Amino acid sequence: MREVVIVGGSIAAVTAADALRQQGHDGPITIVSDERHAPYVRPPLSKGMLKGTESVDSVFMAPLRADLDFRPKTRARGLDLGRRRVLLEGGEELPYDGLVVASGARARRLGPPEAGELVVRDLDDALRLREIFATARSVVIVGGGFLGMEIASTARGLGLDVTVVDRDPPLVRQFGAFLAGHMTRAALAAGVRLVRAPEGVRLAGTPATAVLTGEGAPLEADVIVTAAGDLPNVEWLAGSGVGDPGGLLVDERCRVAPGVVAAGDVVARVADHTGLPRRSPHWGSAIDQARAAAQALLKGDEAPEYRPSPYYWTEQWGLDIKICGRILPGCETHVVTGSMEEGSALLQWTRDGATVAAATVNHRMPVVKLRKLAAAPVPERTTG
Ligand SMILES: Cc1cc2nc3c(=O)[nH]c(=O)nc-3n(C[C@H](O)[C@H](O)[C@H](O)COP(=O)(O)OP(=O)(O)OC[C@H]3O[C@@H](n4cnc5c(N)ncnc54)[C@H](O)[C@@H]3O)c2cc1C
Repeated sequence: MREVVIVGGSIAAVTAADALRQQGHDGPITIVSDERHAPYVRPPLSKGMLKGTESVDSVFMAPLRADLDFRPKTRARGLDLGRRRVLLEGGEELPYDGLVVASGARARRLGPPEAGELVVRDLDDALRLREIFATARSVVIVGGGFLGMEIASTARGLGLDVTVVDRDPPLVRQFGAFLAGHMTRAALAAGVRLVRAPEGVRLAGTPATAVLTGEGAPLEADVIVTAAGDLPNVEWLAGSGVGDPGGLLVDERCRVAPGVVAAGDVVARVADHTGLPRRSPHWGSAIDQARAAAQALLKGDEAPEYRPSPYYWTEQWGLDIKICGRILPGCETHVVTGSMEEGSALLQWTRDGATVAAATVNHRMPVVKLRKLAAAPVPERTTG
């Protein structure tokens, strides 16, 4: 393996490049990123950086190794699998022996691109919203998932009048009824207005000035932000024979095709528990997949299989929540130590008698230990 090309300039790309070097690859590595910035971390964009408690400088990753050719503002527009070439906008072609696809995801928008919809996906989005929040008095956030509720918590912390609108009750899909219920009560106690719109919403105005819910008066505010999920960046692969709208399907070693691997938010894998392809758009998955993908590129079938070990976190309403495993529908919740009322707890979830997830809520614990608890038996004496 000589030339490696990596498409994408974020955590999956940087981790894959580092892992390739650590595994002994000494050939050229070129990273192309369509962003103007050096690689940075996204999680603070909806939390401390948006609020202003973390500086813009603090979101940038450590400087890249000197032996990488990092090309910002460079967009891949096509892939020729047969000739092993990445086609760049502007006409240049990058030959590769090994390719890492790490093109991530983008915000799913409700309106057309020209509508100027406010989202939080990249650094420029967050900088723009931070400036807008500095003078705004009210915001309506469309989407009560992780991101929407983090933006809501940040905005409320800045003193804005906050409304969150969603088809479903906030966070139930991600956290299950027990934890989501607790977080919803925390949001309500902080003064947030929650609106259900079972039939979905439409944005009114360009840029949007109100949200139409199908029933009741339009939800108006100084700022409308949408946090309605994300879509994998697969369009540049159109015509190559790989990649579809649900993501870029990889095998058990994160391989896509001969000489091509993928990692991060762009990836879809067949899930063990459903047998269906699904993405796991979390920071920890991007890192783990990038390491596995780098090994697979260098070692092929000799590389270890990627074993997903989901880990994700959120910060909102003064709650610092870290979760290992997957809170599946129909799980039973166990409070192992502490209590939600006290504001600090250790939780486990079981399904059919087996532990499937564990979480800390304002409770310090090394992630390695939390991972073990996500598969360890629930101690007796805990409440359901
Ligand atoms: C605001 C926010 C908060 C988050 N908070 C958390 C959190 O608290 N915990 C957690 O676990 N996860 C969180 N996440 C998710 C986490 O950030 C992502 O899972 C992670 O960034 C995925 O990394 P990635 O490298 O796969 O893709 P991305 O970070 O999406 O990066 C992909 C990069 O590729 C570039 N690119 C795309 N197409 C091309 C192309 N054709 N040519 C060149 N470059 C291209 C993109 O511009 C981008 O720079 C958050 C995400 C956001 C947006």
